Amino acid sequence: MSNIIKSNTKGSLIVISGPSGSGKDSICERLKEYKDNFWLSISCTTRKPREGEEHGINYYFMSKEEFEAGIENNEFLEYASYNGKYYGTPKSKVNEYLNKGIDVILVIEVQGALKIKKTIKEAIFIFIMPPTMRELIKRLKKRGTETNSKIIERFKKAYKEINEITKYNYVVVNDELDKATKKVCAIIDAQKCSVDRIEEVYLNNPEEEIHELLIDDKKFENNEINL
Ligand code: 5GP
Repeated sequence: MSNIIKSNTKGSLIVISGPSGSGKDSICERLKEYKDNFWLSISCTTRKPREGEEHGINYYFMSKEEFEAGIENNEFLEYASYNGKYYGTPKSKVNEYLNKGIDVILVIEVQGALKIKKTIKEAIFIFIMPPTMRELIKRLKKRGTETNSKIIERFKKAYKEINEITKYNYVVVNDELDKATKKVCAIIDAQKCSVDRIEEVYLNNPEEEIHELLIDDKKFENNEINL
C-alpha cells in the first residue's frame, strides 16, 4: 500500500563539488545511464570557452558586464569568483524544474555550494574526492590541456577545497567511475526516503475499519475486521 505517507513531490536539489581532476563532471555524465528525471544545470561564466565547448550546452558564456547586470537583477541562485572569473547558477530554470518534480544537479565550486547551504536547507551536498593526491595530479597532467604552473595552481586549490569537506553531507571517492556514479545515485535515492520529506502520515484512513482495533481489540479475536 502506498497511501500511508504523503511526501513532498518537489525535485531534490543536489550540489556536487570536488577539486579539478576528481572526476565530478564525468560522474554527472555517467549518471545519465543510471538515473532519469534529472536536469544538469547550465551555469553562466565570464571565462572564455575551451576548445569544443558550446554556448548553451557547457555554459552560457557572457561578458563581465552582462554577468554583473545579472547579479544586480538577482538572477543567480549563487555565484562566485574562481580563478578571476565569475561563475553563477541561473535561478529561473532551477526553480522551474524543481517545481515540476525533476531533480536538479549543480556542479559548482565550494564557495557557491556553501552559499546554497545557507539558503536552501533541504539541498543535498556531495563532495567528490580523488583516491589519492598523487592520482589527482596524474589526472590533471594527463588532460594535457594546461601548463605546468596551471596544474600546480589547481593542485594547490584542491587542498583548500578538500578542507571544506566536512561542510558537505556525503563524500564519494572516485577510484572507479562506475562505482562512484552508482554511489551518487544511491545517495540521491536515499534522500527521497528522508523523513524530512514527509508532509502527512495517514494511519487512520477513515475508509478502513482497521483503526477500530485501537478501541476494541475484541474485534480482532472475533474476526470482525475484514482483512
Ligand atoms: P571550469 O572553468 O573548469 O569549467 O570550472 C571551474 C570551477 O567552477 C569548477 O569547480 C566548476 O564546478 C565551478 N563552477 C561551474 N559552474 C559554476 C557555478 O555556476 N557556480 C559556482 N560557484 N561554481 C561553478
